[in-house]
Amino acid sequence: MALTTSPRGTADIFGSNLETWLKLEGYIRDICRTYGYQELRTPMFEHTELFQRGIGETTDIVEKEMYTFTDRGGRSITLRPEGTAPVVRAFLEHNMGQGPLPVKLFYLGPMFRYERPQAGRYRQFHQFGLEVLGSADPLLDVETILLPVELYKTCGLEGFVVELNSIGCPECRPRYRDELKEYIRPHIGEMCSSCQARFERNPMRLLDCKNEGCRKVLAGAPVITDYLCPGCAEHFAQVRSYLDVLEVEYVLNPKLVRGFDYYTRTVFEVTFAGLGAQNAIGAGGRYDGLIEEVGGSPTPAVGFAVGVERLLLALESEGSFAPEARRPDAFIVQFGGETKVRAAKLMYELRRAGLHAEMDHLSRSVRAQMKAANRLNARWVLILGEEELLAGQAKLKDMDRGTEELVDLAVVRQHIQVGEE
Ligand code: AMP
Repeated sequence: MALTTSPRGTADIFGSNLETWLKLEGYIRDICRTYGYQELRTPMFEHTELFQRGIGETTDIVEKEMYTFTDRGGRSITLRPEGTAPVVRAFLEHNMGQGPLPVKLFYLGPMFRYERPQAGRYRQFHQFGLEVLGSADPLLDVETILLPVELYKTCGLEGFVVELNSIGCPECRPRYRDELKEYIRPHIGEMCSSCQARFERNPMRLLDCKNEGCRKVLAGAPVITDYLCPGCAEHFAQVRSYLDVLEVEYVLNPKLVRGFDYYTRTVFEVTFAGLGAQNAIGAGGRYDGLIEEVGGSPTPAVGFAVGVERLLLALESEGSFAPEARRPDAFIVQFGGETKVRAAKLMYELRRAGLHAEMDHLSRSVRAQMKAANRLNARWVLILGEEELLAGQAKLKDMDRGTEELVDLAVVRQHIQVGEE
C-alpha cells in the first residue's frame, strides 16, 4: 500500500534540524526575557470573523489563503494565518489593558496559509512575533525593529537589510490614496489582473506587486511620505531619530506597504537577499486602529513577526548557526545475562544523575556494541565483563583520548563527571 505522506507545504521537524530549532527558540526566549516580553499562547484556531475584521476583507490572506471550515457545531472556524489578531483578541478578552501599560507579549508557533508552496513558503510555517499594546511611543516602534535585529545578530546573521516606511493614518492616507489612484488610472489597463481587481478598493496594495509591468507603471508614483499629516510626520521623524541614536541601520523605502489592512504609521520589513523570491525574514509595524476594529477601546499598538523557517534558511546559507552535536556521555557495553541486568541498573543510575547514558537493545555482539557506541560518538564506553563484575569493577574507555582503565563500579559516575569537566 502506498504510504501516506505529510500534506503539501508542511514538514516534520526532527533530528539535527530540530536541534537547530531548539537552539533558535532558546535565543528567542532569552532575548524576550531581557526585553521584558511575556509569552502568550493562543489557540491554533479562532472564529473566522476575527481575521476578516482584523486582517481586512481585501487582503490576499482573507480572500484566498485561509484554512476555513465549519465545525460540527456549525461555527465558521479558521486556522490562524497570523498572530496579531489572536493576541489582540486575548488582550481584550482578559482585560489586559487594565493592568500596567504597555503590555508586552510574544508568541512562537505554527501559522497556516493556503499558499503555493516553494522554497521558503509553506502552508504550515512558524512565526515568532511580539506585540506591544497600549502606547504610541515611537521608541516602541524602534524596539520592535531593534529586537529582531539583535536576534539576527546574536544568531550570527549578517546580510540582512531593514526597510522602513510610514503609511500614515486614516487622516492623511485618503488624500494619498486619491492621488495614487489618479496617477495609476491612465495605466490600469497595462497592469496585472490582481492589481486591476484591487485598484478601487485598496490601491496602496498595488505598490507591493512583484509583476515587472506593474512595477514600471509605479516607478514614478507619488509616495506616501510626501502626504503624511503633521502628527504622522513627527512620529516618523522620531522613529528615525531613535534608530539613528541606537545605531540601527535601515533604508527608507517609500513604496513599502504591508499585506494587512490594520497597519498605521510605521511599517518595516527585514529582507535577506540570499533567499530568492521569498526573501522577507521578518516584518511588522504599528496598528493603532486594530484594537478598536475588533471591538476594544482605541489602543495604540505595534508589533512584528519573524518567519522561523526563513530565518533558519538564511542562517543555514551563511553556515553560522550549527548547534553543537549531541552525544551520549556514556555507552555501556555488556555480555548479556547478569551483565545486562547490571548494565541496565547502572544506565538508569547515570541518567538519574543527569548523564546521558545508553546501552544496546538489539542483543548485539560486543564488537557491534562498540561500533554502535562509536556511531553515537559516545564520550565514554563502559565495558561490563563478567570477570570484572565479580571484582565490582568495569573497564572505562575514554573515547576522546583513546585511553582505558579499570574503575570500581561504585565510582564510575564520579569518573565520568570529573572527566567531563
Ligand atoms: P507576515 O505575517 O505576512 O507579515 O509575515 C511575517 C513573516 O512570516 C514573513 O516575513 C516571513 O518570514 C514569514 N512568512 C509569511 N508567510 C510565510 C509562509 N507561507 N511560509 C513561510 N514563512 C512565511
